[in-house]
Amino acid sequence: MRSIDDFSDRRLKSWCIHCGGWLSDLHCNRDHAPSKAFLLRPYPANLPVMTVCRRCNSGFSRDEEYMVAILSAALSGTTNPAAQKIPSAGRIFASNSKLRASIERCRMVFSAVGGDQRQIWKPDLERIKRVVLKNARGHAFFEIGEPMT
Ligand SMILES: [Zn+2]
Repeated sequence: MRSIDDFSDRRLKSWCIHCGGWLSDLHCNRDHAPSKAFLLRPYPANLPVMTVCRRCNSGFSRDEEYMVAILSAALSGTTNPAAQKIPSAGRIFASNSKLRASIERCRMVFSAVGGDQRQIWKPDLERIKRVVLKNARGHAFFEIGEPMT
């Protein structure tokens, strides 16, 4: 698969799309959109990549891990590492008991009409919002060359 030619203005690639810092003044690395945390291996060819500052990129890692873990817990109905629908969440829950306990506290069990036990998961929406905005900025920048800081 061939990547899409990039005709965007290179001058718009001078700053971090997340914090607005000048990249020439910062340590940088590559950011993927969508976040690799949400993909299964093997990753798609020509995954959209942009240069961002390292501090921003690594700053999203814990929130991305949180989002993958709570999505998988909701899909799986449990935080049991062996029962996760998203394989990386199984590894997260097995290695991070603090995060697992935090996500367990997001689960609410209730009895539905008729007596069935149901559960809902109430995530930390600020963490989810940060990850969604990070990915939205990445996609907007990659697709239309427009930084949305
Ligand atoms: Zn930044």
